[in-house]
Amino acid sequence: MLMGRIFNVVKVSASLVSARWLSSAARRRLFSDRAAMPFGNRYVEIRKQHFVEIADRNAQKRLFALSVEMVEIEVFSYCNRKCWFCPNVDYDRRGANVIMESSLYDKVLKELSEIDYKGKIFYSRYNEPFADRMILDRLRQARTTLPKARLCTFTNGDYLTPEFLGEIYDAGLREMYVSLYLGNKVRFDDDRMEARIERFVEKMGLSGSWKIRTRGVEYHFKADYRDMELVVFGRNFNEIGYDRGGTVQLANACTRRSPCLIPFTAMYIDANGSVVPCCNIRSDIPDHRGYLVGDLHNDSIYDIYAKRLVGWRAELIRFGGKKTPCDMCLMHETKIPATQAIVTLSEEIYEKFTQRG
Ligand code: SF4
Ligand code: SF4
Repeated sequence: MLMGRIFNVVKVSASLVSARWLSSAARRRLFSDRAAMPFGNRYVEIRKQHFVEIADRNAQKRLFALSVEMVEIEVFSYCNRKCWFCPNVDYDRRGANVIMESSLYDKVLKELSEIDYKGKIFYSRYNEPFADRMILDRLRQARTTLPKARLCTFTNGDYLTPEFLGEIYDAGLREMYVSLYLGNKVRFDDDRMEARIERFVEKMGLSGSWKIRTRGVEYHFKADYRDMELVVFGRNFNEIGYDRGGTVQLANACTRRSPCLIPFTAMYIDANGSVVPCCNIRSDIPDHRGYLVGDLHNDSIYDIYAKRLVGWRAELIRFGGKKTPCDMCLMHETKIPATQAIVTLSEEIYEKFTQRG
């Protein structure tokens, strides 16, 4: 179950960044070694170190701890669906299930424990995380190894029952985004989507309230479930979908102009241990193989973050046209508006912080 535009309405924690510094940065956005880039309703800290390959392990860890808010881990590859707006239509996820080796998962958690990682871990990439009950063991292990991390996932909801939800909660998950679909080939329909959400909420015995009901675009129902953030939604991907690195054609296709901050704030790990620069890139798509930034069999997560993403960040920090696979990507496109002040800030960051300016 893949992640989508929900992050446009779900606040990502900025707690890793000093509130005092950000408040002064909001007045003056560029300092000698860091800058505050507006991103939706908050700021993301951009550091000079983001654009320099760092070899020292402790310095790598410091930068990672200051910057990374989310690590996405695909513990296995299987998904039961082939949604029309998803690369799974063309790239099979229903055949062989690639399961992340437990030694590799151990390694990721152990490395993150070295900084007492406090960000989010998501268990959804192009798989359906609840298709296999092994997710419960993976959650428990993360809960024990990383007590301060917040465990989260997207799901298509197909495997959820009230009992399973209870087990998932007990295993440690505290954020769940249930993205409901009408059928692998069925296009969005307001009435059918609203009814689908209502049926799901009733089946699960949940109460709550509608937060978004925008006809033709999206519906979000916020459910009350213990202290879990639980949102059930349905979205029209022809309006708000992404081209997934050029693998999906949608009606909203247009050129990307704004910076992308994903390679500053997140890490994405495929079930086979490959690390990719963002959620839109997959190691099992032949055209994407040139975009991989590491393999956790050989590299540490800190080495990959502090060395291999440097070029991506320099390419993406400015406004203007992008190279493939980013040229038509609309992910978070509107979160950094092209005001004169922000365009100037991005140019100053590029000029002063990168090796290219
Ligand atoms: S549920 Fe649909 S959108 Fe999600 S990963 Fe599977 S095929 Fe893709
Ligand atoms: S702009 Fe590029 S790096 Fe950013 S999310 Fe899109 S494809 Fe990924």
